[in-house]
Amino acid sequence: MVRRAASHRLEFDAAAIYQYPEHLRQWLEGLPNQPGVYTFHGESENLPLYIGKSVNLRSRVMSHFRTPEEASMLRQARRVTWIPTAGDLGAQLLEAQMIKTQQPLFNKRLRKYRQLCSLQLGDGAPQVVYAKDLDFSCSPNLYGLFRSRFAALEKLKTIADEQRLCHGLLGLERLSPGRGCFRAALKRCAGACCGKESIEHHQQRLRDALEQMRVVCWPWQGPVGMLEVGAEMTQIHVIDHWFWLGSVATEAEARQLQRASSGFDHDGYKILCRPLLSGVFPLIEL
Ligand SMILES: [Zn+2]
Repeated sequence: MVRRAASHRLEFDAAAIYQYPEHLRQWLEGLPNQPGVYTFHGESENLPLYIGKSVNLRSRVMSHFRTPEEASMLRQARRVTWIPTAGDLGAQLLEAQMIKTQQPLFNKRLRKYRQLCSLQLGDGAPQVVYAKDLDFSCSPNLYGLFRSRFAALEKLKTIADEQRLCHGLLGLERLSPGRGCFRAALKRCAGACCGKESIEHHQQRLRDALEQMRVVCWPWQGPVGMLEVGAEMTQIHVIDHWFWLGSVATEAEARQLQRASSGFDHDGYKILCRPLLSGVFPLIEL
């Protein structure tokens, strides 16, 4: 059975190479069955056509001829290069950085979060705060990451509607002295604005609802190394305040990576938060 499956795969492989534009076939021969990041290059030395990642470079690159858009990209492609990584995490980190710095023609433009903001909750109404003013990697009581003030307030409204929180107390609506908010009359606010619920209880319900969106403060003093062990190689991903400094082979090299300039790294946070805190990857404090 095993041998049969393998021979089927070989046939598929051969068929896949055959369907590829002829001028690219020579580049496919050496593609490894290994995780990593691959690049389709066109005529230009500096502007790549497409950058992608996979846990299996060979099968992923081979599958790039399915849609008309991909066919168009392949026609313009002149060569394929790749960088192997230990696993999926290393591939994600490298891919995000390469797309950001090289801006390939066929990748969907990564949104630039110029107005990246969050909701900060103290004793009163949540305030919209901006990553350009506040270091999001180590500020407490931040909830959610949004690309605009509008998006942050929309999310707050949705939570208010789900939880019957008061738009007045949340700062979404102006309250008149001595009167409940507009939605209290419709029973869509539980009534913290008109004495039917204590302010403390309302604030606690708000905190509970926001909790799952909490932005996690960087929990270490300085950088840490995440050990990713793959079948073919092992990498130490060096991270500081959610910022990926690079991936190296040894602890000595890891200690030499310098802390990057500050500024909250939204991509790094998105990719790293869960894997870093999951305990799946052994950590080395550097
Ligand atoms: Zn109300």
